[in-house]
Amino acid sequence: MNLDDAIRKVPDFPKPGILFYDVTSIFANPDAFSYVVQQMIGSYEPGSIDGVIAIESRGFVLGGHFALENKVPLVLARKKGKLPRETVEESYALEYGEATLQIHVDDLMPGRRWLIIDDLIATGGTLEAVAKMIEKQGATVAGIFAIIGLPFLKYGDKIGKYNPKTLIEYHGESV
Ligand code: AMP
Repeated sequence: MNLDDAIRKVPDFPKPGILFYDVTSIFANPDAFSYVVQQMIGSYEPGSIDGVIAIESRGFVLGGHFALENKVPLVLARKKGKLPRETVEESYALEYGEATLQIHVDDLMPGRRWLIIDDLIATGGTLEAVAKMIEKQGATVAGIFAIIGLPFLKYGDKIGKYNPKTLIEYHGESV
């Protein structure tokens, strides 16, 4: 499987100068989607993960598959204001401004080993915010999985200690 061929690259989205790696083109391609799910599941020893935290919204698509295959809980990290029960939250810097993610506090059982799943790692700020919520509740980050990594944005400085796993890396902004 040539994963690169399945990923559409959209220059200047959502704003000038950003090359957007569009994983919806993977989800729309059953061969590529199946390959990604199999690679994700095969990256972790059965029994080594107690639960999955999937990040809104493209992380949800992957997280459900991992959770059902491994028969572990799926927990959603959502943008502020979407979850109805008591939450923990963490804010983090975006290129301009700030964002906040929330998780239902009673879903984040202390002592569990969580795998965090998103579609792409850029600066690592989003995943670091989720890792902080997990650790503040007395649980452990057992790993991080994303389809795409952009290591030139230095995500290793923020989340390298959690052993992030990606299936394809891009090393610059060329299409
Ligand atoms: P970061 O917190 O900087 O690691 O940004 C990661 C989040 O922003 C992920 O949820 C991605 O979906 C999204 N993102 C950031 N940069 C890009 C990009 N160049 N292409 C597609 N998605 C991106």
